[in-house]
Amino acid sequence: FDDRDGVIWYNGELVEWREAKLHVLSHGLHYASSVFEGERVYNGTVFKLTEHTERLHESARQMGFQIPYSVEEINAAHDVVLKANGIADGYVRPVAWRGSEMMGVSAQNNRINLAIAAWQWPSYFSPEARMAGIHLAISDWRRPDPRCAPVQAKAAGLYMICTLSKHKAEQEGYHDALMLDWRGQVAEATGANIFFLMPDGKLHTPTPDCFLDGITRRTVIGLAREAGLEVVERAIMPEDMAQAREVFLTGTAAEVTPVGRIADLAFTPGEVTRTLIDAYDRAVNRPHDLTAAASVSAA
Ligand code: PMP
Repeated sequence: FDDRDGVIWYNGELVEWREAKLHVLSHGLHYASSVFEGERVYNGTVFKLTEHTERLHESARQMGFQIPYSVEEINAAHDVVLKANGIADGYVRPVAWRGSEMMGVSAQNNRINLAIAAWQWPSYFSPEARMAGIHLAISDWRRPDPRCAPVQAKAAGLYMICTLSKHKAEQEGYHDALMLDWRGQVAEATGANIFFLMPDGKLHTPTPDCFLDGITRRTVIGLAREAGLEVVERAIMPEDMAQAREVFLTGTAAEVTPVGRIADLAFTPGEVTRTLIDAYDRAVNRPHDLTAAASVSAA
């Protein structure tokens, strides 16, 4: 991904994509002092930009460092990098990390760097193609106790668990992994939150007390309530999942993704999932030509 045209916003300047480098002795690389965001641009606008930028600041705060750019400055930098790369529909990846001035676990005075990369990504699957649903394995790795890590931070270190889980799932032929938490309760997928339509007709989703309370999760809870659905946040045990009528994931990249299988349990994505896919499309203002597309158009 490093060998392509374009520019990356890097500590206040636009740098050629291929030249946007950091030193191998960076604290962020050795000790995971790195936080990031994943954002989508629809029709030239970053969906929920300020929420993402505020979460980036909050993730850094939880990791004990302060990003040397305000929320307003970071938002403005998004405009610069999107315009410079001519992106109207795509993905944005801000990342902040401790630099390489000193080596060692502490290195408190190392520079805090910020980079913002953006690329075209109109990745869109027609609702029909997506309604088959993805398959989730249940990971052996669990989300940690909040006493073990700053679990609400979107911090690079926590993604070690996601990468391990996703690799194992993919090796076994699944699309993604569902992780339980340290208590054995259902937590989240490796880059998305999870919802279950239960026999009571309500949407149930795990209480986000040890994993990311996704911005998409909160958006979809709002859309579901507007559509007259009740949403229940509670502890969900793996054995509760068998009762679910429909299951879907939510995330900036996943949007609303139907789930067709979790380990040995099969689910048929249905009307409620479809309603929320459509509601989310309207909320993000997805361009019409894509909404009308009948076939899978991207990987
Ligand atoms: N959980 C994890 C582990 C994630 O990486 C993401 C994607 N950022 C989410 C949940 C969903 O968060 P959001 O809706 O804010 O993208």
